[in-house]
Amino acid sequence: MIIFRFSVGTCKGCGKPIIWIQTPAKKSMPCDPGETAYRKNPKGKDSILTRNGEVVRCDIIGAFQNYSDADGIGYVPHWATCPNADQFRRRKA
Ligand SMILES: [Zn+2]
Repeated sequence: MIIFRFSVGTCKGCGKPIIWIQTPAKKSMPCDPGETAYRKNPKGKDSILTRNGEVVRCDIIGAFQNYSDADGIGYVPHWATCPNADQFRRRKA
């Protein structure tokens, strides 16, 4: 059973809206709010956080693309897109 827990917040680094998704390890991961389709790829350059809080190495296909081609839907970790990721990493887990 997938329990999707998240809370909405704002990035202290760039001021953009983010969502905190809770992982099975009870850690919160900051992600961009939009859902994104991905295709699993162990050698992929992207990471995605799935709705059950699992980080998957993948190729991101993008929102509103051909979902039939995707392995699933997830969220892009915010540190991958934040222009102030360095500052942002200091936030406690
Ligand atoms: Zn940010």
